[in-house]
Amino acid sequence: MNLHEYQGKSILQSYGVAIQNGIVAENSKDAVKAAKKLTELTKTKWYVVKAQIHAGGRGKGGGVKLAKSLDEVKNISESIIGMKLITPQTPPEGKKVNKVLITEDVYYPGNSKPKEFYISILLNRSSGKNMVMYSTEGGMDIEKVAEETPHLIFYEEIDSALGLLPFQARKVAFNLGLKGNSFKSMTKFITNLYKAYVGSDASLFEINPVLKTSDDRIIAVDSKVSLDDNSLFRHPDYKVLRDLEEENPTEVEAGEAGLNYVDLDGNVGCMVNGAGLAMATMDLIKQSRGSPANFLDVGGTADAERVEFAFRLILKDPKVQAILVNIFGGIVRCDRVAQGIIDAYKNMGDAINVPIIVRLQGTNAKQAKLLIQESNLDVIAATAFEEAAIKVQEVLLE
Ligand code: GDP
Ligand code: MN
Repeated sequence: MNLHEYQGKSILQSYGVAIQNGIVAENSKDAVKAAKKLTELTKTKWYVVKAQIHAGGRGKGGGVKLAKSLDEVKNISESIIGMKLITPQTPPEGKKVNKVLITEDVYYPGNSKPKEFYISILLNRSSGKNMVMYSTEGGMDIEKVAEETPHLIFYEEIDSALGLLPFQARKVAFNLGLKGNSFKSMTKFITNLYKAYVGSDASLFEINPVLKTSDDRIIAVDSKVSLDDNSLFRHPDYKVLRDLEEENPTEVEAGEAGLNYVDLDGNVGCMVNGAGLAMATMDLIKQSRGSPANFLDVGGTADAERVEFAFRLILKDPKVQAILVNIFGGIVRCDRVAQGIIDAYKNMGDAINVPIIVRLQGTNAKQAKLLIQESNLDVIAATAFEEAAIKVQEVLLE
């Protein structure tokens, strides 16, 4: 689950990480109220209006703007809320902005040389360890830094049993070139950032930029956070942080029904039981020169109701030109699945407007094939993997 900047920052704050103060708003009136409150709180005279979407690069796309008065807060918020923000990380059509974060200006005029750093904590999957990845080159595309000046990116691996040790926090501060008070602030920042990462069961905490102010404070100006979905049951209070509008609606609907559905950009819809078979089926489709339109694991029970639901999900995608059903009958018998498909097909009638290729293998596969052939429905039955592949190819060429 991905979080918005303002949500990530509030987790950071709860773990004692210093942040750029801000208040979220859904309309320009609340944005002005938020700005007034920030002035009471921090004495700031200038503000930053920041679009809240699940994508970075907002600054470049015009989603982060400095406001030097309450009037400007109002006007900028009005123009940003409701806009379709396009950044290098959004889909080409952009993402709709529903909320803005109004923050204090931390690059204020007296803050002569704010220095920007990059700091993230993430899981290094190849070593199986968490690591701090950091750089003196903050505020820029870290991908670009990695490509052009890789020696300016540092890595610090953390032993899960020991946690982040004090000497490691000092090493980070040292490598970032800090001294005196800012050195101390940075070690505290890193220590608490790691606590936030572990405590929230995150898979990523990326802060770009981390700012060093002229009075030697170290603060998080941005936050990009991904939480591990498998651990959400341990954090019932995080449930409200999920923003369904940021997610693919079909994937949300599938998730609610307990199906594993991932939207892809090809033309062959897949209905499969088991994730491994689903992966193999996608390969099969590629080999038959098609391209999978989705990944869908219907799980163990493939009764008529579930099959119908899955067909309807797949057919929501206008790119789908054929559907390949590939089910292995282990615990669930193939003839039962076949009957489920036939019943679903009859129920849906004209709603099914693309050819369906069904490959059932396992217990009672022969009976299943017979059932489908005798149903007189427009369903093509196959038993072998290759046979199914050839049939997919045939219907796509038609
Ligand atoms: P991103 O573009 O989506 O990564 O959004 P960020 O939160 O990183 O903000 C983008 C840029 O806005 C930063 O790199 C800063 O240059 C600028 N910015 C952020 N906060 C402030 C601020 O308080 N004052 C000023 N003047 N600029 C800011
Ligand atoms: Mn950023």
